[in-house]
Amino acid sequence: MNKKVALVTGGSTGIGAAITKQLAIDGFHVVITGRTEKTLKQSATQHKNISYIVADVSKPTDVQKAIKNVKDTHGRLDILINNAGIAPSLPFEQVTLEHFDTIYNTNVRGLVDITVNAIPLLKASKGNIVNISSVAGDKPLPGISIYSSTKGAINTLTKVLAKELAPYGIRVNAVSPGPIETPIFDKMGMTKEEIDHMANAISQTVPLKRFGSAEEVAGVVSYLASDKASYVTGSQYYVDGGYGA
Ligand code: NDP
Repeated sequence: MNKKVALVTGGSTGIGAAITKQLAIDGFHVVITGRTEKTLKQSATQHKNISYIVADVSKPTDVQKAIKNVKDTHGRLDILINNAGIAPSLPFEQVTLEHFDTIYNTNVRGLVDITVNAIPLLKASKGNIVNISSVAGDKPLPGISIYSSTKGAINTLTKVLAKELAPYGIRVNAVSPGPIETPIFDKMGMTKEEIDHMANAISQTVPLKRFGSAEEVAGVVSYLASDKASYVTGSQYYVDGGYGA
């Protein structure tokens, strides 16, 4: 019951899986969520201190189930990593309200819902929150307008929550990755040719001339979640090879 506990939404693949492994190495028990049991199970094999709950962050009953599980099983929550996100692409003139709702329900409404539900546990632990945003929130790309705007919303929420929750000793920060090699690109609704073309074009515009790895994002998240960052709140850390500079 004494081990510190981290909850990582979308901890099954990509950046979330790397954060999960790093936080487990850092000594946390890590609870991960996602919609797909198979990938959650795989991610949980990364370290003995990882457990999973099948939970869709856009469904309020699933969010409550996840928080209840953390409370009943571990009795505490020290770190909330709001990482779950989707990035379907669509030219703006083809955007439907369904497309809008799907992205916002996961990236923004889900983040708000799980954060509100986690606050009582975070108050008790004087814990902290790391929101996984994106450089697209500040430097949006054509074709991912709705996704980019969800990340702008996350940046604003990070700053206001840092101020609102500071009196309780809760820190709130954001990490904004640039292009990171993860399965997210296969889920954008683009052909492999389009993805390769976009990846090449993006790499050329990154000062470090390459995609980053999920582990490179996890290292910064690990720092922000730790006591080493005890005077850091309301910040947005870029892990983007200089892309947004
Ligand atoms: P992945 O697709 O690999 O990971 C997304 C994770 O979120 C998966 O675990 C997925 O599991 C989960 N997820 C998606 N929808 C939901 C939902 N409704 N409820 C719960 N879990 C959900 O992508 P990345 O690792 O790349 O993305 C992680 C975060 O990083 C996202 O917020 C993304 O916007 C951000 N990011 C990524 C960048 C990149 O270049 N890769 C750049 C900038 C930001 P499942 O589908 O099984 O639910």
